[in-house]
Amino acid sequence: MLERDSLAVFLEAARRLDAGFAALPEFAPDAPGMARLPEVLFAAADRLRDNYPYFHPLYAGQMLKPPHPVARLAYALAMWINPNNHALDGGRASSAMEKEAVAELAAMFGWKNFLGHLCGGGTMANLEALWIAGQLQPGKTILASAQAHYTHSRICGVLQLPFEAVPCDARGRMDAAALAARLARGGVAAVVATLGTTATGAVDPLPEILALRERHGFRLHADAAYGGYFTLAENLGAEAQSAFARLAEADSIVIDPHKHGLQPYGCGCVLFRDPGAGRFYRHDSPYTYFTSAELHLGEISLECSRPGAAAVALWATQKLLPLRKGGEFARGLERGRAAALALDQKLRRDPRFVVPFEPQLDILVFAPLAPSVSAASALSRSIFAAAARRQLHLALADLPVEFFAGQAPGMRRDRAVLTCLRSVLMKPGHLDWVEKIAELLSAAAGEACAASRGTETQQP
Ligand SMILES: *Cc1c(COP(=O)(O)O)cnc(C)c1O
Repeated sequence: MLERDSLAVFLEAARRLDAGFAALPEFAPDAPGMARLPEVLFAAADRLRDNYPYFHPLYAGQMLKPPHPVARLAYALAMWINPNNHALDGGRASSAMEKEAVAELAAMFGWKNFLGHLCGGGTMANLEALWIAGQLQPGKTILASAQAHYTHSRICGVLQLPFEAVPCDARGRMDAAALAARLARGGVAAVVATLGTTATGAVDPLPEILALRERHGFRLHADAAYGGYFTLAENLGAEAQSAFARLAEADSIVIDPHKHGLQPYGCGCVLFRDPGAGRFYRHDSPYTYFTSAELHLGEISLECSRPGAAAVALWATQKLLPLRKGGEFARGLERGRAAALALDQKLRRDPRFVVPFEPQLDILVFAPLAPSVSAASALSRSIFAAAARRQLHLALADLPVEFFAGQAPGMRRDRAVLTCLRSVLMKPGHLDWVEKIAELLSAAAGEACAASRGTETQQP
């Protein structure tokens, strides 16, 4: 089932790359231990079998999927050079490719003049954005919603910036009224709006938050690590769509090509609307050699050594699948979202489940109906295990009971947090498998419910 056809193209591409260095005198690279290469590589293959099948549509759990073959191969091709995008000396071609690929990401959000670069992932990208926010208004507070990624409060700890969480509404979005109340008390440097929360794919109400910026003048950072690419999707609900439509008005944006951009891990991106943010990165290193007067990426990034291969992979992917509305890439995102909506509809017709809200992107959360929150949580865990035995792989998420109160008013609140089921339907192929996923889920729920009734009747 693992895609291998593309490897033939890879060998041809490696030959072309090699031909570029034909002017050098003959040289045979020396790599020690090659005699045992097969033995060790086969052992690695055996070890890697110990994984959930992220590539298969029946893996419908966490935010995981394999990169596009072109990303995998472009990354591998670059590995024969191993460029370092810290400085042009370490990776001329891959630095240029990074600038092009990042400009395409910025253009997707409508930005032409900007500052941006790739980095290790969403954590690093958010750290850089909040670092700049803190530099601009030292000592003031950073706000993010209670459903924002936990990385924001931790990053603020690292940066020694005060952090506060803003409550969410019943759909997991930042509560604009609660934000307004907090802003009225003053002392806020920046608000983090999450466009696509990690747990439920909730999209913070950006138009309302921007209206509050008019009044209070804070810096607005958009954490679109997961959801950023949905800017291209044309099948969002009206509210999510109105948030994405205003994304260009943020002061900084984070997007993770290694989440929805078909890239291998190690590819995040931070973008600043004002290129002047670059002044905070300035350094005067005697170790970095300058063979060019041009701005090099090491001057606008907190990380020093960075994989040029990540830039090559992203560049190649965007050449193959341009970031265009209506394009093949955008259609893939729309299919994942359509799969989430289809599964949402099926679960709503099944009286055994509670679906707290319609998916805002391609992430669906749902819980089994039970007399109490603790019973529903236990049942979620049993369904998760029963589904896995049927090769359907879901995820579990701990969410505030308030999310479920509207749909399951009778459920006894013996816990503040409900462990529910979560399915990230982020592969375009999920759409063709919704029926099968629903069928396996129904069987798993049947088994888990029967088992829980069994234990109930055994109790005295
Ligand atoms: C994944 C994610 C992050 C963290 O990014 P990493 O790439 O895992 O470091 C931050 N914010 C959001 C909204 C995310 O989904």
